[in-house]
Amino acid sequence: MTEGIPLEEHKRQHMTPHAKELLRSLPSVSAMLEHEEVRQWLHGLPRASVVAALQAAIDSAREEILEGGTQEPVDMQELLARAEQALLERSIPSLRRVINATGIVLHTGLGRAPLSYAAIEAITEGASGYCSLEYDLATGKRGRRNTHVVGDLITITGAEAATVVNNNAAATLLILQTFAAGREVVVSRGQLIEIGGSYRLPDIMHASGASLHEVGTTNRTRVSDYERAINDNTAMLMRVHPSNYHVVGFTETVPIEAIAAVAHRYDLIAVDDLGSGALFDLAQYGLPEEPCVRASLAAGADLVCFSGDKLLGGPQCGIILGKSSLLEQLDSNPLMRTYRVDKLTLIALEATLRAYFDPEDAVANIPTLSMLRASTDRLAERARKLAEQLEAALSDERFYVCSDVGYAGGGSMPGQELQTVVVKWRPSQFSAESMASRLRDAETPIIVRIRDDAICFDLRTLSGSDLEGLVASVSSAVWDEAEA
Ligand SMILES: *Cc1c(COP(=O)(O)O)cnc(C)c1O
Repeated sequence: MTEGIPLEEHKRQHMTPHAKELLRSLPSVSAMLEHEEVRQWLHGLPRASVVAALQAAIDSAREEILEGGTQEPVDMQELLARAEQALLERSIPSLRRVINATGIVLHTGLGRAPLSYAAIEAITEGASGYCSLEYDLATGKRGRRNTHVVGDLITITGAEAATVVNNNAAATLLILQTFAAGREVVVSRGQLIEIGGSYRLPDIMHASGASLHEVGTTNRTRVSDYERAINDNTAMLMRVHPSNYHVVGFTETVPIEAIAAVAHRYDLIAVDDLGSGALFDLAQYGLPEEPCVRASLAAGADLVCFSGDKLLGGPQCGIILGKSSLLEQLDSNPLMRTYRVDKLTLIALEATLRAYFDPEDAVANIPTLSMLRASTDRLAERARKLAEQLEAALSDERFYVCSDVGYAGGGSMPGQELQTVVVKWRPSQFSAESMASRLRDAETPIIVRIRDDAICFDLRTLSGSDLEGLVASVSSAVWDEAEA
């Protein structure tokens, strides 16, 4: 190619007279705007959207002519059809509902916890008009937004006081900034975590102005390590739940009880970042074990923090619980204002927390908990039904019900494999990868797991309503593929 000349210009220079004629025959946007059909569109759609769609249609036709792919003049109907398709694509939201067939219950990429019906109803109600966000209905005076959930959090966990911020990263930063800026925080080397994306504890520590005092080794930390690290500039001992990994083998970690005892002996604060945070003993309900908020407080942690949208099954937020005097200091930190949660979050959180007054209610109605608790028998029964429906719809394809291993995800229950059941499918015409891509293209995109070049639909994360749409979407993905 000739250097220094843009590609389009280069192509233009080497065009046949016929192609040049084709280019000249393309209408302009303003000419298309005069077309009767386009005038109709303008009654219901913003002019800017229509213009952009017309431009896109003309551009794509021009591109084809330049590539030499078209010998016939592009007619108006063809351009209108392309513009209409562009308008349609623009009307599909970018952030939209998907079907999670990966089996990962807390999938950060897919929005972590799906909300309970109670929370969804509460949001719909609260978002439909005004609400008593910072208004005390008893006195008619200005109120505080977090009060709506503080009482429930205290009742459920036995904490003295509570507050809520945007996420657990903010909770951690706020705690460090309030109590340890310019001072040292002692953390075990085995707990200097990084969580997918952008959360690294040492970086958060640095941003808060606190300095990290690492103790112990990656696999073993003892009480004496914490004790030896304490000096005049120490502010806090912190335990961090290693959310997404598990140190196994020759290991030793110090329980929060012992960390708190050392902290208190030296008049320091003990903080427990629980990550996910279970609001009751999950193991008792057949769920995998995860550190319990109430137990951590009872063991002496002065402050605990955890996410609202991991195991708890609520909206994205960070919850801080602990001693009243400390919570008062946190609440009066000016940074608190920058992390304040939105009304929809508080509405959803309050509705979610209400289920926790009775653990039976929680495991039945909080989706994260009920999905994690579903037995393999129950999953297998649903898998057989799904496989039958898929085979009925697609007689040339074979679907198998198999046991498999999944994970909770979202930095919860690290290393704990979850036995699960999947419907496995090796598409007869195509690779699993290309079929997975077709499924992501469905009206409600389906996100699957691929194992051994097979598509796996994991029943653990598929709701009843997901299953209804799934069969139709899979069928059309196969048919479209066959046509293409
Ligand atoms: C997930 C996690 C965080 C970050 O929480 P977000 O709510 O995602 O901000 C912090 N600490 C631990 C231990 C975690 O597991």
